[in-house]
Amino acid sequence: MSTNVVESWQINPDAAAEDLEAKQPFIDNGLDVLDPSRYYSPEFMTREWEKLWTRTWLIAGIESDIREPGDYSVFRLGRESMIIVRDIELYSLCEHHILPFFGKAHVAYIPNGKILGLSKIPRIVDMFAQRLQIQERLTDNVADALMEIVSPHGVGVVVEARHLCMMMRGVEKQNSTAVTSSLRGTFKHDAKTRDEFLRLAHGSLVPSA
Ligand code: ZN
Repeated sequence: MSTNVVESWQINPDAAAEDLEAKQPFIDNGLDVLDPSRYYSPEFMTREWEKLWTRTWLIAGIESDIREPGDYSVFRLGRESMIIVRDIELYSLCEHHILPFFGKAHVAYIPNGKILGLSKIPRIVDMFAQRLQIQERLTDNVADALMEIVSPHGVGVVVEARHLCMMMRGVEKQNSTAVTSSLRGTFKHDAKTRDEFLRLAHGSLVPSA
């Protein structure tokens, strides 16, 4: 038993006993909270989670949930070729295991008279990533939001992410990446558009033969 704990008992035995009772679930799960270096780990964990939930990015996405078309600066433009923003970094939390998943999103659309400022696309990704999510829904949310905001001919979204809930549970899964896609409009119905998108999303600028 560590000296620190013995000392805290000596100062206030009741508080220390109560303290240890609160730590019991951690002790039961093998965390040696009597080691001075870990004695406050449960408190640190609780405090960090509280910050995540109440003050920082976890709810930031929900607070910035502005999906009214008027909330975005939309410009008129007669262009009807594909616009793609690739490699948008994303960090989210798996709603099942409450563990992070992180990766990249590639987002494209073919305008139909209206375009969105390019910087707004990563903002839409953040908005849906910064909450409890599953990758499949996140991918759909981004595609649907873009459809709603600029009413384009079509939208394509690919998300590639690594999930700590997969990675931490087995060596063989450490390098696996989950890939999800959502295709709307021409991206769904036109093979040529879809191919162009997937080629650009995966980094090849050379047209396939
Ligand atoms: Zn998970």
